[in-house]
Amino acid sequence: MASSLENSVFETTFAIIGGGIAGVSCAEQLAIEDPEGSVILISASPLVKVARNINKISERLEEFDVEEETHAYLEKCHPNCKVINSSAIEINDERHEIHLSNRQIVRYKRLCICSGAVPKVIAKSSPFVLGIRDTETVEVFQKRLSAAKRVLIVGNGGIAIELVYEIENCQIIWAIKDKSVGATFFDAGAANFFLPCLKEGKQEGPTVSKRLKYELEGDSHPESVMGSALGPDWSMHVNLKGKMVERRNIHIEYECEIKAVYEREEFLKIKREISAEKTEDSWPVFAELTNGKIHGCDFIISATGVVPNTGLLQKNKFDFATDGGIKVNDQMKTNLEHIFAAGDVCTASWSLSKHWFQMRLWTQARQMGAYAAKCMACDMRGETAILDVCFDLFTHVTKFFGYKVVLLGLYNGQKLGTDYEIIVRSSERTEYVKVVMQDGRMQGAVLVGETDLEETFENLIHNALDLSVYGEDILNPDIDIEDYFD
Ligand SMILES: Cc1cc2nc3c(=O)[nH]c(=O)nc-3n(C[C@H](O)[C@H](O)[C@H](O)COP(=O)(O)OP(=O)(O)OC[C@H]3O[C@@H](n4cnc5c(N)ncnc54)[C@H](O)[C@@H]3O)c2cc1C
Repeated sequence: MASSLENSVFETTFAIIGGGIAGVSCAEQLAIEDPEGSVILISASPLVKVARNINKISERLEEFDVEEETHAYLEKCHPNCKVINSSAIEINDERHEIHLSNRQIVRYKRLCICSGAVPKVIAKSSPFVLGIRDTETVEVFQKRLSAAKRVLIVGNGGIAIELVYEIENCQIIWAIKDKSVGATFFDAGAANFFLPCLKEGKQEGPTVSKRLKYELEGDSHPESVMGSALGPDWSMHVNLKGKMVERRNIHIEYECEIKAVYEREEFLKIKREISAEKTEDSWPVFAELTNGKIHGCDFIISATGVVPNTGLLQKNKFDFATDGGIKVNDQMKTNLEHIFAAGDVCTASWSLSKHWFQMRLWTQARQMGAYAAKCMACDMRGETAILDVCFDLFTHVTKFFGYKVVLLGLYNGQKLGTDYEIIVRSSERTEYVKVVMQDGRMQGAVLVGETDLEETFENLIHNALDLSVYGEDILNPDIDIEDYFD
């Protein structure tokens, strides 16, 4: 049977590489945009990621869960969509062909590359350094953690924050390059708001999983291509307990990075040279930090961001951006004919709107995937797509330390230089509201807690209303800013 599949050639209108959120939203949208066209989604992973329980908070803000589904599910919902579980190993852009590791060939009219990103792991070759990306890496991490007394987490983004908050019964050394925690998402003020939560950790109580879980028989990955990135609530499903009795013990090393990683034998040989004679030397691995300190631990978790997964594309003549992503224009087109890209693998390279910028997040992967589908369908008809409103204004809703966090526009003063003002309203354990103002106009906002301000602020930023009359009263809870706006 297998041999009859080998060397089969499939002809399709639309092909997509990658079954993460970008690839799946592209496939779903294409199935609607062009019901007569055929869609083939090539997924190295046996499960695909589907956005569910979509809750539209405002015109641009959406929250949703990400669930894993079998290929059959996608094919059942969209009869013009077929999923092939294999890895793309080569794209022949002149012949419009994708060659798969199972020796099948997919011939396309339009292709969208949605191959995601891979973690930037420090000291990749060390067995004591783990990166977290997909369900399999979480399983390895969980197993190692259950036997650990101390871990060192390096990185200051969403994954690191989540881990520091969720891990229990294990000492945590958290090495961050910034002056405050979570600097990718918030400033020192918000970091202070969250510090008590860090000490206390996750609050007890039942957590409800909204994601379905499928058991798969046999090999979960046909080849060694990474699976899709995890969902926003990935840590809810995982027991993140170490082997210490003490529940919480966190030590933060600010403004430093990892200079070197030593396994125990190597450390014992050089500990005098690196002036680490006093360091307790029973740990299996040691991290030397750029601030001169050395910490031993059971293992290191590298959560220092991701790089676009472009290994497959190196033989083609794609234009890459400085961050390693494939450059796409406002039609999500790459420089190669009839090839589009979306999600973590691409870099938005059009003239961006003032209040939007790219961040490799769920929300944007979904938005880009769906918009790429519209662009592909338009391109087939010889038309140009109108840039979606989601690219007008950066919006993201997430949860940190158990609080709802909404980020709007230039929430950290991105692109504004130093000429801007920050107004803050904070009430301990309840809410933290920060707005970024320039020339009397709101440029961005961070809303922590149930503030109910997101829709109003999104409109204020988007419409660039002059709010100078309010001054600092813009955040006065006794003044109803919505009235002014109406
Ligand atoms: C631990 C973790 C936590 C995160 N938490 C959040 C969060 O809370 N909120 C948030 O907004 N974002 C979060 N992110 C980021 C978010 O997951 C990504 O931005 C998003 O998943 C990107 O989607 P994608 O479809 O572009 O890529 P991916 O989800 O990475 O999917 C890429 C797919 O392509 C497949 N693929 C790759 N190469 C090939 C090939 N050659 N052939 C066939 N298939 C291939 C892969 O198997 C995979 O299925 C998190 C990321 C991680 C790692």
